[in-house]
Amino acid sequence: GTGKVKGIKTKSGELIDCQFVGLTVGVRPNIDFLKETKLEIDRGILVDEYLATNIPDVYAIGDCVQLRSAPSHRRAIEAVWYVGRMMGETLAKTITGSPTKYQPGYWFNSAKFFDIEYQTYGSVPSVLSDNQGSFYWESTDGKKCIHVVYETGNKKVLGINTFGIRMRHEVWDKWLNQTKTLSYVIENLPEANFDPEFFKRFEPEIQLQYNSEFGENIQISKPTFFQKLFN
Ligand SMILES: Cc1cc2nc3c(=O)[nH]c(=O)nc-3n(C[C@H](O)[C@H](O)[C@H](O)COP(=O)(O)OP(=O)(O)OC[C@H]3O[C@@H](n4cnc5c(N)ncnc54)[C@H](O)[C@@H]3O)c2cc1C
Repeated sequence: GTGKVKGIKTKSGELIDCQFVGLTVGVRPNIDFLKETKLEIDRGILVDEYLATNIPDVYAIGDCVQLRSAPSHRRAIEAVWYVGRMMGETLAKTITGSPTKYQPGYWFNSAKFFDIEYQTYGSVPSVLSDNQGSFYWESTDGKKCIHVVYETGNKKVLGINTFGIRMRHEVWDKWLNQTKTLSYVIENLPEANFDPEFFKRFEPEIQLQYNSEFGENIQISKPTFFQKLFN
């Protein structure tokens, strides 16, 4: 109307007020120049589990790559920085004499949108299936949140999205591999926190909300001496 966005209307007819719209158009490998070569391509350059192409001694890594058989919980093309790094580390081993398969583990990404830092570990679907539940916490100023998805039967955690709070990759990868439960994860959240030392900690608020929502009694984290001093 006035030349500025007021809101968006979703396919289901829901109206969401907003002042800004960000479009995520996605990316695709720009490999047209390879079409006339002997390299096998599809949507990306096709590679096996060693990141080898169909031509001996020619490998491909990064955004341009399409895995011939991606692990069940990963996609064939994953154009993000961490994937490129992991592929580079894997291939370095192979070409220096220790053939190593690319085994990316659980999905993980971390990015920044203006000053909002967000991370994702594992699987956090936007629409939950019947056997999935979720725990959501948001700070009172609305600037930080976490969203954890779990299996309702055994409470096994499937993944987490965080906004404004940084987590440690190795801790979340370990928890997902060890199929930790929701209560374990919430009780041990300080172990995963990767915010700089003097940042305000939100674990006690998160744990209190969890206890009240789930009728449990997990231990509430105590701030360290320096956290008390600076928060
Ligand atoms: C706007 C934007 C934001 C992003 N934000 C994030 C983020 O927050 N987190 C994240 O994980 N990832 C992010 N990504 C993705 C990330 O940047 C890529 O996954 C990563 O850079 C891929 O590395 P790469 O080496 O495979 O490819 P690139 O970094 O694209 O490097 C390919 C290089 O090859 C060169 N090149 C291309 N064609 C030829 C040719 N014919 N001859 C010689 N050289 C050539 C290019 O100039 C380029 O330098 C973002 C990408 C974009 C575009």
